[in-house]
Amino acid sequence: MNQDAKTEKLESGGGKISRRAFVGGVAVGAAGAWGLSHWLSRFGYDPAKPPQLYEYFLDNFWFEAADLEHQEINAPLKGSQKADIVIIGGGFTGLSSAYNLVQKFPDKKIVLLEGACCGYGASGRNGGFCDAGIPGLMRYVEKAGPEAGRKAFDGTMYGLRQIRELVSEHGVGCDFEENGMLEAAMDEEQAKHLEKEHEAYKSLGLEATLLNGKALEAEVKSPRYVAGMKFPYGGIVNPAKLARGTKAVVEKAGVEVRERTVVMRVTPGKTHRVETEMGEIHAPLLVLGLNGYSPALGFFRNRVMPLCSYVIATEPLSASQWESIGWQNRQGIADMRVLFDYQRPTADGRIVIGGSDYPYYANDALSSGNNKPVIELLTNSLFTTFPQLEGLRIDHAWGGTMGFTLDFTPSVGVLGEHKNIFYGVAYNGEGVAFGQTAGRIISELIAGETSELTNLFVLNHKIPYAGPRNLRIVSARLQKWYLTRSSSKTVR
Ligand SMILES: Cc1cc2nc3c(=O)[nH]c(=O)nc-3n(C[C@H](O)[C@H](O)[C@H](O)COP(=O)(O)OP(=O)(O)OC[C@H]3O[C@@H](n4cnc5c(N)ncnc54)[C@H](O)[C@@H]3O)c2cc1C
Repeated sequence: MNQDAKTEKLESGGGKISRRAFVGGVAVGAAGAWGLSHWLSRFGYDPAKPPQLYEYFLDNFWFEAADLEHQEINAPLKGSQKADIVIIGGGFTGLSSAYNLVQKFPDKKIVLLEGACCGYGASGRNGGFCDAGIPGLMRYVEKAGPEAGRKAFDGTMYGLRQIRELVSEHGVGCDFEENGMLEAAMDEEQAKHLEKEHEAYKSLGLEATLLNGKALEAEVKSPRYVAGMKFPYGGIVNPAKLARGTKAVVEKAGVEVRERTVVMRVTPGKTHRVETEMGEIHAPLLVLGLNGYSPALGFFRNRVMPLCSYVIATEPLSASQWESIGWQNRQGIADMRVLFDYQRPTADGRIVIGGSDYPYYANDALSSGNNKPVIELLTNSLFTTFPQLEGLRIDHAWGGTMGFTLDFTPSVGVLGEHKNIFYGVAYNGEGVAFGQTAGRIISELIAGETSELTNLFVLNHKIPYAGPRNLRIVSARLQKWYLTRSSSKTVR
């Protein structure tokens, strides 16, 4: 062996290899790693994935009805500041936290940071169903029994009470109507399922009425519905008006609301450092109201999955069109399919209908604000449910991002080494009323109080692992396939 070859030898563990072999090994290793990740990413390939643009308001009827275009959007946070409590997210979780915290701590400096404007996320885009109860309740009943289940149900009624309070005591105009809810079965399997759900509600001592034939027709006339269940709890609202109105209430009470303030990074500690696009703020207490946007900021990664839902709004119906569908009690209606539709009337006589599919986009991408194939599904579904309305114009179509988990159960609690990061997350598509409750729970936790709410089963609920991000599209599709094998959704 000559001198050059000798000098090319490098130490490697117990033996010696030449530099050429070493470089070759690295190259082969890198190529292998690239090949493997490329192969894995093919599994994650999603042709429906939208480009990575920040979402924008797209044709949202609620924003239009709330006259968002002419409302003042607050100035962003600039420079370096200090606060006692910083809240990230101006949806129902963040706003309700602010509403309750400012009442408990009138002297503390509370600053809410919102990337766009309050109500910009799911809170201003949803179907506006204010559900009583909470996802995961029926699973909890199976484990804990009916008495504990009823207590939990009563606890979740807080959200509806808070909306009522915002309307009656603070004058928040949000077209809130408490007409209860109707669930509708489209086939015999779903009707059987409805009966089971009815029994489950009865076991909690809740009111619920099964409807068939003429009794069902007296509520709504659709050739698609074979049975129904009327539930007197819950209501409908214009969610954007509720969010914007709550923003005004918390500001009046002394909360500093910063809009157009995208948080770029959070460095947790005894005092948190929250960096925004144009400034930074330091505070010992942090509240996360980010729901489906949480993974994008590094929270609940591989646990909370952003799923999207889309909604359309028709033109206003004429009196005779309303009469033809017989929906005079104006309650929100959801059907019993796994990929169900939810529909409700608006204050100016339109129908808003959402659902039909709930896409997950690869790598936790956010909704771009619209999705043509789902909008088409919804439009067809509307006219299949109500053929009487054939020819009705669709005036608006939009969508948004929600936080889902594999066990369909929300989590509200506290995390971090110093137990000073409070959060409410993963309402699994039912956060209009429950987001209010979550904010209340967060305020009680910060105040060190205990109540029926801080004993709810969602408190610090451990969210199950949802698999690695680049393979999640596979697990999301497998889950959808698994759940849609049956025509009916499971009791939640
Ligand atoms: C189309 C649709 C229909 C739905 N229908 C219903 C329904 O009928 N009934 C029901 O109960 N639930 C429904 N939901 C779910 C419900 O809207 C949500 O559960 C609820 O609004 C979540 O509230 P939130 O405040 O936790 O999150 P969001 O309302 O999503 O608020 C999070 C906020 O954080 C902001 N943000 C994100 N990242 C950053 C950042 N880096 N810096 C600063 N700010 C940031 C966002 O702009 C957003 O405003 C629906 C959701 C959608 C999308």
